Amino acid sequence: MSADALRNLIRDVPDFPKPGIVFKDITPLLRDPQGLENSVRLLAEPFRDANITMVAGIESRGFIFGSCVARILGAGFVPIRKPGKLPWTTRSHEYELEYGKDKLEIHDDAVSKNDRVLIIDDVLATGGTLAAAAALVRALDATLIGAATVIELSFLEGRRKIVGVDFHSVISY
Ligand code: AMP
Repeated sequence: MSADALRNLIRDVPDFPKPGIVFKDITPLLRDPQGLENSVRLLAEPFRDANITMVAGIESRGFIFGSCVARILGAGFVPIRKPGKLPWTTRSHEYELEYGKDKLEIHDDAVSKNDRVLIIDDVLATGGTLAAAAALVRALDATLIGAATVIELSFLEGRRKIVGVDFHSVISY
């Protein structure tokens, strides 16, 4: 199944969660066995020979794809979560949104200096979320090898926020 066939499994939902946003709904892709299989295969592909030891998935749709990618690469999985969700001691990173601020957290023992880390999420939009995740991985002295998302909204130029990261997307709009 090609990236173009996968594109047909992404549903546009206008005005969700608020007016003016076109939400990229990945649930049709997830419920299609071939769609799920091929999307995670294509996410992992560029990093097959990169000796990734840990995949970091961003809450919450990054958990779904990230854990599948970890299995393909023979790596472990760690969650990067919204504030107050992780039970152990954490590092946190605050970042700017269009209106206001948000924060992401990681367990402080999630990755360490011997880890080669790949960050996975479903969508790259403005890039703030991925940039914050990258800052957390680097703050724990792990080596950030790359990042990948199923969808990239390239017109928002999120790649500009994640310079120095080997970034790949499966489907670009
Ligand atoms: P950003 O920080 O702007 O790159 O936003 C990325 C995060 O917001 C990802 O975790 C996505 O799940 C979510 N997101 C942003 N825009 C959309 C969209 N149009 N459709 C679905 N999810 C989105």
